[in-house]
Amino acid sequence: MKMTTTQRRIIHVMWLCIVPTAFYVAYQFYPANEIDYSNLLMLAFVLLAIMNLPIAWQHVSMTLERWVVFTVFFQYGIIAEMVFMQVGMIMLIFTLKSSTPKLLRFTFNSINFAVTSLLSSLVYYAVGGSLEYMSFSTFMIAGFIYASVYSWFNSLLLTAFFRIFKQETGKMGKIIIWDYVTSILLLPFAIISCYLFQQFGNKSMLLVGIPFILVLLVTRSYLRSNQQNEVLSSAAMIGHELAEQLRVDEVLQSFLGKIKTVIPYESAYIIDRRIGEQLVLLTSTECVDYVEGPQKVLVPPKKTEQDGLSSGRTKKYSTRKDLQTLRGFTFPIAVESAMTAPIVRYGKTEAYLLVTSTREYAFNDVPTKIVDLLTGYLAVAVEKARYYERTVEKSVKCGLTGLYNFRYLDEKMDEELVRYHTGEIGTLSTIILDIDRFKGINDSYGHQSGNDLLVAFATILQNYTRDGVTLARYGGEEFVFILPDWSKEAAIALAETIRKEVEETTFTILPDLSPDREPTIVQMTCSIGVASLPEDAADGKDLLRNADRALYIGGKQAGRNKVGVYEENPKINAAT
Ligand code: GH3
Ligand code: MG
Ligand code: MG
Repeated sequence: MKMTTTQRRIIHVMWLCIVPTAFYVAYQFYPANEIDYSNLLMLAFVLLAIMNLPIAWQHVSMTLERWVVFTVFFQYGIIAEMVFMQVGMIMLIFTLKSSTPKLLRFTFNSINFAVTSLLSSLVYYAVGGSLEYMSFSTFMIAGFIYASVYSWFNSLLLTAFFRIFKQETGKMGKIIIWDYVTSILLLPFAIISCYLFQQFGNKSMLLVGIPFILVLLVTRSYLRSNQQNEVLSSAAMIGHELAEQLRVDEVLQSFLGKIKTVIPYESAYIIDRRIGEQLVLLTSTECVDYVEGPQKVLVPPKKTEQDGLSSGRTKKYSTRKDLQTLRGFTFPIAVESAMTAPIVRYGKTEAYLLVTSTREYAFNDVPTKIVDLLTGYLAVAVEKARYYERTVEKSVKCGLTGLYNFRYLDEKMDEELVRYHTGEIGTLSTIILDIDRFKGINDSYGHQSGNDLLVAFATILQNYTRDGVTLARYGGEEFVFILPDWSKEAAIALAETIRKEVEETTFTILPDLSPDREPTIVQMTCSIGVASLPEDAADGKDLLRNADRALYIGGKQAGRNKVGVYEENPKINAAT
């Protein structure tokens, strides 16, 4: 619950005005019975036990103690009930963890209960209820009206309070219904307690309170295992869905998206942990609403030793004090609680999941086993996606030069032709390059040196790739550029630039044929063919063939180290 200081002051002043007055009125004007203190102590014990055993039902957490409060009222009157309720509430504030400050929780609940108790007891007396012996039907009717009014007032005040102080009222409707249903369903326990008290005195609680607590314990463990099953099946679903993703970044991003159903985070990060190096932020989803400072991203600590994450197990940081451990991290927002979980591969922590919240204790209810299960799924999915990416990469690339291979070139050419024929691009040029007398180089210096030269040649070509341009190794010492939307003139100019650069470059190799392997300088040249659409081919399929022809006639036949430009008539120009 987030409130401004002024709002808090208003509540404290309201408390001072309302609660003492309510107590005074209750004490002065309402009947009270003599108190059996051992019985009241038993009731207090039962109340506390029940309050500390909340049950979660359909995502609403509730406690079933109201009938004990009713019992105190029916047996001893309003003032006893009010004192009893306030004491119970104070104890609850100290036992149940919450991010709302204790004083605020006390004042707010104190006002609410004091007013509710007073008004509903007024109604109880008005409809014929009393603290003396009543017939079953009178008791049932008065009790029913009292319990209804009690629940309504309570909900009404709660809603009004949330509205006035602009708090989130998302689950309010559900809470109100459950409050009413449980109040009515639990009323019989209060009535039974009263009759039994009249019969057996302070032993009556043994017959009602203790069995109630036992049943509650059983119900809780049943609901909890149900809830865990639900969480487990969502975790399994997440695992399946992750396995379908084929790209590493997709896996990481969708992981963060999906785990939100199980882990109620506001910001989440996956941080790569490279031993001895800096931690690297791989992916994140941040709740931008909360960004306050100028810095908008999480900054991990410089060195892995300073990360405070070294334990290698899932860890929760419930308060700001706990978060001190992570002081190496600079958060973009004021974080109140966090959780970290290692992402382990082959027994080694490779990365961390970090989730944060602006609420304290936000991750207390998240079972760590589930988190470990999820990070396990993530590790497997990332491994699989990495393997897939590597396989795809291998299947389209040449192992020696790292350029695309013929298979890729062929497919790309088809794609570009489709783009050309659909009018998406206006021209399509292609350049084919072939190293001159490469066989001779192999013969003189050995195949290994020949390979080194091929790599060096490919590196030069790679410097000329731009957005949209495809460069591939066509075969042995032949390479191809596909230049979508490039005019023939531009392609010729590029070919000429490359030809010149190769001619002027001195390549150094360590010949593997000579025993001393002295560094040797080698010069190379290449011949080039250029052809373009729409000028040089009626059908796109001929484009590469025509570039090859231009290479052969205008480059090789014309004396090598030349750029051959394709022309429709067999006379093919040599540009150099
Ligand atoms: P031209 O000027 O007519 O192109 O002469 P060339 O010797 O370059 O042409 P040719 O097609 O006769 O020979 C190409 C040579 O390229 C044959 C082969 O030994 C060599 N070669 C092809 N692929 C590789 C390779 O991957 N590594 C090495 N080292 N040599 C290769
Ligand atoms: Mg060749
Ligand atoms: Mg050649």
